[in-house]
Amino acid sequence: MRLSRYFLPVSKDVPADAAIVSHQLMLRTGMVRQNGAGIYTWLPLGFRVLKKIEQIVREEMDRAGAVELLMPTIQQAELWQESGRYEAYGKEMLRITDRHEREMLFGPTNEELITDVFRAYVKSYKALPLNLYHTQWKFRDEIRPRFGVMRGREFLMKDAYSFDLTEEGARKSYQKMFCAYLNAFDRMGLTAIPMQADTGPIGGDLSHEFIILADTGESAVFCDRALLDVPAPGLDLDFDGELSDVMEKRTQYYAATEEKHDEAEFAKVPEDRQVSARGIEVGHIFFFGTKYSKAMNATVQTAEGENVPVQMGSYGIGVSRLVGGIIEACHDENGIVWPKAVSPFDVGLISMKPKDETVSGVADGAYAALQAAGLDVLYDETDERPGSKFNRMDLIGLPWQIVIGPRGVEAGLVEVKNRKTGEKSDMTLEQAIEMVK
Ligand code: ATP
Ligand code: MG
Ligand code: MG
Ligand code: MG
Repeated sequence: MRLSRYFLPVSKDVPADAAIVSHQLMLRTGMVRQNGAGIYTWLPLGFRVLKKIEQIVREEMDRAGAVELLMPTIQQAELWQESGRYEAYGKEMLRITDRHEREMLFGPTNEELITDVFRAYVKSYKALPLNLYHTQWKFRDEIRPRFGVMRGREFLMKDAYSFDLTEEGARKSYQKMFCAYLNAFDRMGLTAIPMQADTGPIGGDLSHEFIILADTGESAVFCDRALLDVPAPGLDLDFDGELSDVMEKRTQYYAATEEKHDEAEFAKVPEDRQVSARGIEVGHIFFFGTKYSKAMNATVQTAEGENVPVQMGSYGIGVSRLVGGIIEACHDENGIVWPKAVSPFDVGLISMKPKDETVSGVADGAYAALQAAGLDVLYDETDERPGSKFNRMDLIGLPWQIVIGPRGVEAGLVEVKNRKTGEKSDMTLEQAIEMVK
């Protein structure tokens, strides 16, 4: 992408109403534009990151055996009346009336809708286990939308729903999602800590929140530091195999959010390992058994011919919240420092002297070669001052920068900068491509 043709409304001003660094940086780098309280346009740069996160989540859901579909944003009130949540959900639900005076709502979550899809088609235990998911916009009329996309009113969530014949089967489905979540967050360059959590209006008795530690996090969290050192299960995990050990390795340590915090239990953690911190909830998984299937009459026939309510769980990831969450975890005084896997472009290419024909010729050639190597390039061929070009490239935080200037051109070399370490070195274009690939 040539910067002169791109839409990157970068701004120097620190927005006064943005209280946390990720929100400030998202506005300054032109990733989002606020259109109303908790409502945002995803500008091109931000949209790229959002799509990358969505894709990583999709790949890890698929690897764990979940099946993607797409449910609507607008739902009929009737389904929620069936489950009993239409009243219970309260003011966070945006209620809408259509021209026929029918009550509708903008979905804050999809347990009812998916249960309705399930009961329409699945009648036998033979179709189980089944896990269906989508990534769709949600609306929650948050009392205090704030911190930019971290607590929006309209936000993008991946939500998966598992269906099993037995409680034991449902716990296995839960374990699969638990492991898939750890792998997904790990791929994004994040350490997300699974913590015992409250179930809130979703209901159920087994639940974990996935938390990234950040001073600006809205939740108070408590855990054993040892848990931070347990690596993700890994992409070669056999999801059909036994997962209890994998779970045990991570649930053996104390880790709880404020609602589930138990001072007496926490006191048993060796003092130097007690972490009491703030955290951002980036994912949340629930097992709730037959809460919705009983209320909505979603039953399956067992091998013995008996009809029983299906066992369910639900699994959410805050895809749009993650964009802010990753920036909270990955920035320095000069701007964002994207982990490679979610960076909007792989590399930034800067032509120092675009008006010099020799320099721009070499830079154009480098642009073509980088693209041919399969890299996504943001090519700054504008004729602004080098200083402001460097600052802008640092601000938007691509992992690598390649600089083409007159001196390097003469020597047949380019300068490569690692955004994270700040390290710069001169090398041939071929070596640079190898390095940033
Ligand atoms: P919170 O405690 O932050 O209000 P929640 O517990 O209400 O979140 P869930 O119902 O568990 O949220 O939804 C699943 C995921 O969706 C959350 O873990 C979070 O990452 C994301 N999410 C929830 N509310 C918002 C929001 N207002 N803006 C952005 N992401 C959100
Ligand atoms: Mg909430
Ligand atoms: Mg919560
Ligand atoms: Mg939650």
